[in-house]
Amino acid sequence: MKVLIINCGSSSLKYQLIDSETEAVLAKGLCERIGIDGRLVYQKAGLDKEITEAPMPTHTEAIQMVLDALKNEKTGAIASLEEIDAIGHRVVHGGEKFASSAKVDDAMIAALEECSDLAPLHNPANLIGIRVCQELMPNVPMVGVFDTAFHQTMPEEAYLYPLPIEYYEQFGIRKYGFHGTSHSFVSKETAKFLGLDPENSKIIVCHLGNGASVSAVKNGKCVDTSMGLTPLAGLAMGTRCGDIDPSIVDFLGKKLDLDAAAVTQILNKKSGVFGLSRGLSSDFRDLAAAAESGNHDAAVALDVFAYRVKTTIGAYAAAMDGVDAIAFTAGIGENSAEVRTSILDGLTFLGIKIDEEKNKLRGENMKISTEDSAVSVCVIPTNEELAICRDTVAILG
Ligand code: ADP
Repeated sequence: MKVLIINCGSSSLKYQLIDSETEAVLAKGLCERIGIDGRLVYQKAGLDKEITEAPMPTHTEAIQMVLDALKNEKTGAIASLEEIDAIGHRVVHGGEKFASSAKVDDAMIAALEECSDLAPLHNPANLIGIRVCQELMPNVPMVGVFDTAFHQTMPEEAYLYPLPIEYYEQFGIRKYGFHGTSHSFVSKETAKFLGLDPENSKIIVCHLGNGASVSAVKNGKCVDTSMGLTPLAGLAMGTRCGDIDPSIVDFLGKKLDLDAAAVTQILNKKSGVFGLSRGLSSDFRDLAAAAESGNHDAAVALDVFAYRVKTTIGAYAAAMDGVDAIAFTAGIGENSAEVRTSILDGLTFLGIKIDEEKNKLRGENMKISTEDSAVSVCVIPTNEELAICRDTVAILG
């Protein structure tokens, strides 16, 4: 099957066309600046990237341009749209309605509209992507793959906030967790790579990118994760604060004469390692370089980041009463040996021993712990598009 993967944001759209039999990416790219001006990046496997600037007033024009590029006579990956057998959509929030990926139908669309207030920046954009594909390719079956679904197995003690219970019942206020597609993919890959029995294993996945989260996966099921009602919770991130004392919102609002929404904007966009480094950068490469040349703020920002990940790993080892494996993934997790070292330094009480030579290597799935380490530590590149493709095929049979 040829599966088109669509990841629709408010002003951007990422796509990949994947051959599900070989799992090869046939073409990929993104549309940027939708509703502003418009820019299409398209790359057929084995060829250079092509960049086209063209007006994209809405997602309809953007998706139409992607389809035109895919069937372009010279550089297209398909001869006609008939070759697209299925579409897999990334959807950010599935609320409590979706504990797994599901076929897109009217009931799903209604359910997504209902939980849009839980992810006001993301779900409306995801819905637009679904509707435009329905309009342009009415006969192609589609599947929704949710960032929250994998975390629906968390027990009550992990997902309930200690708030009046009515707020959970009335408004759905609870921990949902995000990056679920990645946590699911990486935990399965980790078990496979290490030869662990997925039904009898305790794995901690550290998805460390611009947005970052950790999850505890026991016997193949998520039992806790660090993001919450929204992706603002948990770790310190590129620009997000992660867990802080909730009183800070009111306190800072009074000091700065801002309402809660404006303070929340600061917590989302100006905080994390960006805020700690005095606005130097949210990019870990910049921070590492600055710390190296003596910038104290950058060094502290990196320390805070690593400390949060470390203490979350400790908490999740407690949540599962042990840990067999820790997997690092996403931009920082896959690429930064220094950040991994700094996180793992101090986890020797878990019996973790790192092989610093292996830790410095780059590549596909890698084990970076020593043979006598009590916990296997590895680097497992994530591949959310492939995970969406696999789910889409599994659901459509
Ligand atoms: P997202 O998908 O959330 O935007 P990514 O998973 O692409 O994020 O990760 C982006 C982050 O990865 C950036 O902060 C970037 O600094 C970091 N990163 C990428 N390459 C490296 C590297 N070689 N060393 C350190 N950090 C890196």
